[in-house]
Amino acid sequence: LEGPIPIPDLDPSKLTITLTKSPKPIPAPESLIFGGLMTDHMLVASFDPVTGWSAPEIKPYGPFTLDPASSCFQYATNTFEGMKAYIGPDGAPRLFRPAKNMARLARSAERLALPPFNADALLELIKKLVVIDQRWIPNIEGYSLYIRPTIIGTRSALGVSASDHALLYVILSPTGPYFRTGPKPISLLAAAENVRAWPGGTGSHKVAGNYAPGFLPQRIAAKQGYDQILWLLRDENEWKVTEAGAMNVFVVVDREDGDLDLITPPLDGTILPGVTRDSILAIAKAHTAGKLTLPGLSPTQCLHPHERAFAISDMERWLSEGKLREMFAVGTAAVVAPVGRVGFQDDVKKLARDLVLPSYEADMGPVSRGVRQMIVDIQEGKFEWDGWC
Ligand code: PMP
Repeated sequence: LEGPIPIPDLDPSKLTITLTKSPKPIPAPESLIFGGLMTDHMLVASFDPVTGWSAPEIKPYGPFTLDPASSCFQYATNTFEGMKAYIGPDGAPRLFRPAKNMARLARSAERLALPPFNADALLELIKKLVVIDQRWIPNIEGYSLYIRPTIIGTRSALGVSASDHALLYVILSPTGPYFRTGPKPISLLAAAENVRAWPGGTGSHKVAGNYAPGFLPQRIAAKQGYDQILWLLRDENEWKVTEAGAMNVFVVVDREDGDLDLITPPLDGTILPGVTRDSILAIAKAHTAGKLTLPGLSPTQCLHPHERAFAISDMERWLSEGKLREMFAVGTAAVVAPVGRVGFQDDVKKLARDLVLPSYEADMGPVSRGVRQMIVDIQEGKFEWDGWC
């Protein structure tokens, strides 16, 4: 897998399209469960070290036949992306900052020593797939089509080494709003027992191996009545906050000068570089620079974005000083989820003690609400910003 990309690379001009003869009925939007239903078609290409990437195919959605010894089953040589298509006011599908997802997929694939691919070519192919399955995107506010590009290692040998064969595929799933009846503050269990990512690890890559180990902690959190895990990392004597479930986190803290600090942990290798996180930092900067106004906030209410580490002890201090205004988790699925409560459990033998965030009318603080509305408006085409769609 060293050296130049074998010829041919992924080539959209070689795409073949086979449409399904039995299109599925489109379900009522209200019945959609996240990721529960796939559309009619998928995009597939395979990689062979001698012949390079195969001609891509769009074909009816269906199962694969794979060798049980395949690298992906044995060694988790799997990476994936999560992005969405929305219907714009002109009735055409739109993608939100898709080049960011392509770049992240290429980085993740490289981290797993999976074959490289032309990211622009993949984006072009995804656009073709989305247009073919466009009828699946509910043209209703808050609804979209979730796109799951995936690359798996298909080397069929048990030797523990890089997979020189791979399968790239993209599947689509219609999805509704994360909060069906309006935002509801989520609760997080900050448990010291399990660590998601660590310096030098793969936390900043979207590789499947990061996710399965989170399922047991998630179940433990749910048993204690919390919605998600708040992942911590011990640093010196502090418990640094990193991410929440599969979302990045922000806190809003009062400043001496009456403005607000908007703080998210830095991309130090333990944090997934979320597209939503990056977008929120950018629009907060633009708001403070007077280039746009976040809905519900006064143009003179300045937000100072920071990528800076903070710990549970900082949150406790800010709360005791009455400075901690809001906490929210962000990601493609939920966009913005307000956090109402964080249970901190530094010892498994002890009960978690709750840090309670301020509550707001209609369950969302003004900054959470403002950034959420702005991102959704850009995604759905009610507001155009910086060529993001
Ligand atoms: N952190 C993790 C661990 C994630 O899996 C995700 C979802 N991709 C995010 C954060 C949020 O990233 P994005 O805004 O790109 O969806």
